[in-house]
Amino acid sequence: MSSTDHPFLSAPTKQLLIDGQWVNALSGATFDSRNPATGEPLGHLAQGDAADIDRAVVAARRAFEDGPWPRFTPAERQKVILRLADLLENRTEDFARLDTLDMGGPIRRTRGAIGLLTGVLRYFAGQALAIHGATPQPSIPDMFVATVKEPVGVCGAIIPWNGPLWASVLKVGPVLATGCTLVLKPAEDASLTPLMFGQLCLEAGVPPGVINVVTGFGETAGAALAAHLDVDKLSFTGSDVTGRRIVAASAGNLKRLSLELGGKSPHIIFADADLAVAAPAAAVAVFGNSGQVCSAGTRLFVERSIAEEFTDAVAKVAAQMRIGNGMDETIDLGPLVSQRQLTRVTGYLDSARAEGAAFACGGERLTGAGWDTGFFVPPTVLTNVQDGMTVAREEIFGPVLSVLPFDSEEEVTKRANATPFGLGAGLWTRDIGRAHRLGKALRAGSVWVNCYNTLDPAVPSGGYKASGYGREYGPNHLEEHLQVKSLWIATS
Ligand code: ADP
Ligand code: MG
Repeated sequence: MSSTDHPFLSAPTKQLLIDGQWVNALSGATFDSRNPATGEPLGHLAQGDAADIDRAVVAARRAFEDGPWPRFTPAERQKVILRLADLLENRTEDFARLDTLDMGGPIRRTRGAIGLLTGVLRYFAGQALAIHGATPQPSIPDMFVATVKEPVGVCGAIIPWNGPLWASVLKVGPVLATGCTLVLKPAEDASLTPLMFGQLCLEAGVPPGVINVVTGFGETAGAALAAHLDVDKLSFTGSDVTGRRIVAASAGNLKRLSLELGGKSPHIIFADADLAVAAPAAAVAVFGNSGQVCSAGTRLFVERSIAEEFTDAVAKVAAQMRIGNGMDETIDLGPLVSQRQLTRVTGYLDSARAEGAAFACGGERLTGAGWDTGFFVPPTVLTNVQDGMTVAREEIFGPVLSVLPFDSEEEVTKRANATPFGLGAGLWTRDIGRAHRLGKALRAGSVWVNCYNTLDPAVPSGGYKASGYGREYGPNHLEEHLQVKSLWIATS
């Protein structure tokens, strides 16, 4: 089957979704989308820029203030979100295949994710009915006070390419639950499922202008959205470098921000752990999605007494992982998303070599027939790594694991926390006291004990330190989209 054989790809150019209409960029410019497994073109996308972002923000403002959307009751918003979840569930195959064609992830993974994503939508459907304020009792006589939760307004969202449908659903869910409106800017390397999901919102009965999707480049469309003076809130998921630019760009109107900026997450294996379970889990924690996961467990701290044995076990799992075209049902790892990402990851492999690391497996881009047109890097396990080496400090976003032996709980806690990031952390032990001690001491938004990277619609996820601020999933995610108004009524 040709990679371009997909119902959403029948029209040659994918347009922008603004105010419920499919439109070209005002400039008429387009850019290409390619399959990272084969290099085959998938089509052209409208290249939106500042003028298109502005059009979309105007539409989102109008939809926020004028009917019908602001008149939707919570129960009506709930109904729309539930319908959206059902539609997504029914089209699981179409969405999974398009995600895989566009960004390369294994079809089993993109398909599996949709189970979580429909759960996320249904969670937010429930939350639409759970918005409420309070009636604090002031000490001022003859006064009634109510706090009222109101939607924050026009939201912007800028998302990455590692899970395009995933990120779209996470940005859209709370917007619909709270009655906000949205301008979504997908990543230039993976814009197709966000566009198809925008279309699904319309089919589900979301009124025109509530969800707008503007494709284009970060430096133009993205920057314009971050700086736009009529956007009330911006949610960004991506690199910390771009996150810092977004913070600066947001200053014009001091828009509310939430940021999820990746990490360099520690994954700690104590000698008393169930190593037969921990070894494959440690491999999946870092090699899943070819390492293109914000919370990837990239620093594997292993207690010294088992370091050699455990490293061998992880390398053995890694060597058995199947790499190839994401459309193949049997593969575990697809290609990296782009030439740029390949260059970035192989640059880190070169730096590991130059700084004296050893390779237990992997280490080179795959070349030869069938590989050269794609961006394939096999699972790579590095030993002889020092905490200060570039590969042990910086986010690589590729299938690269650094093994770091340790001697004591106290030492590993300090070393695990010695990073500017704080998104996730994992530990494996059978010692319940230690699980609690580290659960408290590790400075990260999620700490996983005897598991890794678990997610649930009801459980908040987000960063400490330079991994960002704000939380997604759970009730906190909703609060990010709500204002609190204190209404004072003098009763005499
Ligand atoms: P990468 O380096 O892999 O492109 P980024 O964090 O830069 O990762 O990209 C994540 C998202 O941020 C993408 O949608 C991208 O278009 C967008 N982006 C990139 N640069 C900027 C910018 N200066 N302002 C706003 N958005 C940007
Ligand atoms: Mg970028």
